[in-house]
Amino acid sequence: MPVPFIDLKRFEPGFLEKWKEKVAHLSTNASFIGGEEVAVLETSLAKFIAKKHAVTCANGTDAIQLALRAVQVEKNDIVLVPNMTFWATFEAVVNVGANPVTIDSDIVDGGVCYQSLLTAIDKHQPKAVIIAHLYGWASNSLSKIREYCKSKNIPLIEDGAQCFGTLYKGKSIYKGAYIATTSFYPAKVLGGAGDGGAVFTDDEALSIRVRQLANHGRTSHYGYGLVGWNSRLDSLQAAYLNISIDYLDKRIESRKSAIAYYNAELPKIGFEQMIAPADFDENGYCNVCIIRDRDIKDRVQHTLKENQIGFANIYPGTMSEQVCSDKYMLEHVGGAGAEDICHSVLNLPVFPHIKQEELEFVITTLKTIEV
Ligand SMILES: *Cc1c(COP(=O)(O)O)cnc(C)c1O
Repeated sequence: MPVPFIDLKRFEPGFLEKWKEKVAHLSTNASFIGGEEVAVLETSLAKFIAKKHAVTCANGTDAIQLALRAVQVEKNDIVLVPNMTFWATFEAVVNVGANPVTIDSDIVDGGVCYQSLLTAIDKHQPKAVIIAHLYGWASNSLSKIREYCKSKNIPLIEDGAQCFGTLYKGKSIYKGAYIATTSFYPAKVLGGAGDGGAVFTDDEALSIRVRQLANHGRTSHYGYGLVGWNSRLDSLQAAYLNISIDYLDKRIESRKSAIAYYNAELPKIGFEQMIAPADFDENGYCNVCIIRDRDIKDRVQHTLKENQIGFANIYPGTMSEQVCSDKYMLEHVGGAGAEDICHSVLNLPVFPHIKQEELEFVITTLKTIEV
């Protein structure tokens, strides 16, 4: 039984009909940029995550760049970034002209290593800090990181591309964030029909600056107060997300039950799982197996391929290991925890409405491997 790593085509009954109607309606009216769909989406997003302001933009990478620019990061400033994250986090820093310093990861939860972060702040006095909430949860030290950055007056940007719908201490994970971002790339938990992203904050002035930057720095249609760029979310994307958000709780539930099944079954057959720290109620973004033995990992991947079971390695390499990163990085602070995770991580299929027999097939297949 082939089991894809992710299948985005498992639409709920009635979903595609609603989408087709929207496309027809928006097309008939030539409503393609801005308008009601975008406004409605921003209101629903803010409500869903308990944040005062949600500003949509073209993608999750832009969202990070907008946040960096909004907190006044400028050319040659220093910004701390996790050594383990998606490349976009690192890239955003470079694209605003700043210099990244990478911070090691905590091997228990995959978030930044708190001690390395403190060392790097002390040493570099950065203009801003970015942390990334990977796998559907965040660092066990999230509150401490927020408090520490606040006490030092350093803006903390939270790359929340993978944690839409995650709860922290019973509330939306974004709730305590100064400024956070997300992505609506189709494979994310709230995915669009193309690219999209958003910036979340409770600070009105920041939200105004983000909105302005994402629309050419406009003060009026042909008046410009800043050099920004075009990072608007289009109306069709907003419409798709407006339909999807109503299905989100059910999709998250389905993802979470897949994760719960893996977390119960995989350790029984010898596969170590990285799991969400106790304060988090994860969104089920992905499964995280840790297989340190190179030979076992190779055999597992081979067997999965042979049985047409999809898998991923999120992520196979750190920022500092990329061939071009030396050119941009000032330094790496901390040890090799990020490398350790990157070299041992393996992610099994999880997506909304994955079937129980598919999950069972994954486990049955893994059972045949000697670990
Ligand atoms: C997906 C992702 C991004 C980038 O989002 P795009 O919408 O693809 O630009 C940034 N950071 C993390 C952690 C991501 O997972």
